[in-house]
Amino acid sequence: MTPQNSVPKVGFVSLGCPKATVDSEHILTRLRAEGYLISGSYSDADLVVVNTCGFIDSAVEESLEAIGEALAENGRVIVTGCLGAKGDVVRQAHPKVLAVTGPHATDEVMEALHAHLPKPHDPYSDLVPPQGIRLTPKHYAYVKISEGCNHRCTFCIIPGLRGDLVSRPVGEVMEEAQNLVNAGVKELLVISQDTSAYGVDVKYRTGFWNGRPLKTRMAELARAMGELGVWVRLHYVYPYPNVDEVIPLMAEGKILPYLDIPFQHANERILKLMKRPASSENVLQRIRQWRGICPDITLRSTFIVGFPGETEKEFQELLGFLEQAQLDRVGAFTYSPVEGAVANELPDHVPPEVQEERLERLMRLQEEISAEHLALKLGKTMQVLVDNVDEEGAVARSTADAPEIDGLVYISNGDNLSVGDFVNVRITDSDIHDLWAELSDLPSGEC
Ligand code: SF4
Repeated sequence: MTPQNSVPKVGFVSLGCPKATVDSEHILTRLRAEGYLISGSYSDADLVVVNTCGFIDSAVEESLEAIGEALAENGRVIVTGCLGAKGDVVRQAHPKVLAVTGPHATDEVMEALHAHLPKPHDPYSDLVPPQGIRLTPKHYAYVKISEGCNHRCTFCIIPGLRGDLVSRPVGEVMEEAQNLVNAGVKELLVISQDTSAYGVDVKYRTGFWNGRPLKTRMAELARAMGELGVWVRLHYVYPYPNVDEVIPLMAEGKILPYLDIPFQHANERILKLMKRPASSENVLQRIRQWRGICPDITLRSTFIVGFPGETEKEFQELLGFLEQAQLDRVGAFTYSPVEGAVANELPDHVPPEVQEERLERLMRLQEEISAEHLALKLGKTMQVLVDNVDEEGAVARSTADAPEIDGLVYISNGDNLSVGDFVNVRITDSDIHDLWAELSDLPSGEC
C-alpha cells in the first residue's frame, strides 16, 4: 500500500507496435497530469500497468510472460492493450490481475487505477509538458491520427480488437504535431491502422487549425504537417486511389518521399482470399506513375508468404511482381494463424517448412534488389537525421529510412555531431540494408 502523504508510483511495461506505444504515451501523460510518479522498477512501484500486444502467437506469449513477471515482482497489475481485448486469455493465465482493458482505453485504465491506487490529492498538472510524455527519443515522435479499421482482411483480427475506424479531429492532431515540433521533434511519423482512410468515418469533416479551415483527409493533413518545417513520414498507407494525391507533396518536398504501403501479395486469387484490393498490374502502373512524379520516392511494403492455399505458381507470381516493382524496402512474414482470423478456416494450409523456404527465397531476391538500390547511392550527397553519436562516429537515417524498421547511415567522421542534427553527407559505401558516409559541405540532392 502507498504510505499516507507519499506520491503514488506506477510502473509501466509497454509492448507491441508503434500504435501501442502511442497508447502507452497517452496513459503515461494522464498519469503524470494527475500527479502520479512513474517508477522504473517493480519493487519501487505501488502498481504496474502492462500494455500488451496480441497480434501473433509469439506476441501473446511475450505479453503473458510480461504480466507474469510483473505479478511475481510487484503483485498489483493492470493489463491493457490488444491482448486485453481477449479478456479471458489474460484472466485464465493470470487470475490475480486487478483489471483488464482493451487497446486505446486510456479512460478505462485510469478508472481502474483510481480504484486500486487513488490519485494524489494535489496533482501538479503544470508539470506535464504540452507535447505529453513520449517513449521515443526527443527528436522523433509517432502521431496517431485514427484508431480502428473498416477493412476486414481475413488474416487480421485488429478490427475485432480495436473496432471500426475512428478519426481524431484534424485540429487536435495538428495541435499535437505543433507541440511536438515546439518541443524539438524533428521527424513526425504518422501512424494509424489505415492512414489513407483518415476522415472517412466523419465524411472528411472540416476542422480548424490556427483559425483556418482544414479537412479531415490524409492529403490535407499531410500538407498542413509539411508546413511545420520538419520531416513528415507516412506509415500504414492502404493502397487506395487517394494515395496518388500525396505523391506531388513528396515531389514538392513538403513531406518525405517515403511511402509505407502494405501490398501483402500480388496474385489476384490470393489477394481476393485476403480481401485486399486485387490488381497487381494496376499497382505496377501506379508505382511507375509515382516514380515519374517523384523519382527519389522510397517504397516500403509488407507481404505475407504461405497464405492458406498459396501454390508454388502463385508464389512465383509474387516474386515476379517484386522483380518488376523494385521496391526499396520489404518486410515479409509467413502466414501465422492468429486465433480468431477468418483465414484460418480456409483450406490447404501451406506446411511450415514450405512457408519458411518461400520466405527465404523472397528475402534473398529482395536483398539483391535492396543492395542494388543502395549501391546506386554511392557518391551521392543527401540529408540525414542523426540518431546516435559515440566516439566511433554518428549513426543517422536518410529520408529513405524509418526508425527501427529500415536501414541506417553510419557517418565515420560524425563524432562531433549531436542527436537530432540534420546534416548533409556523401555516401562512400553500402551493403544490403545500410549505408556508410562522410560529412559533406555540398547541398543534398533529394527530390
Ligand atoms: S487494413 Fe490493416 S488493420 Fe485493417 S483489417 Fe486489413 S490488415 Fe487489419
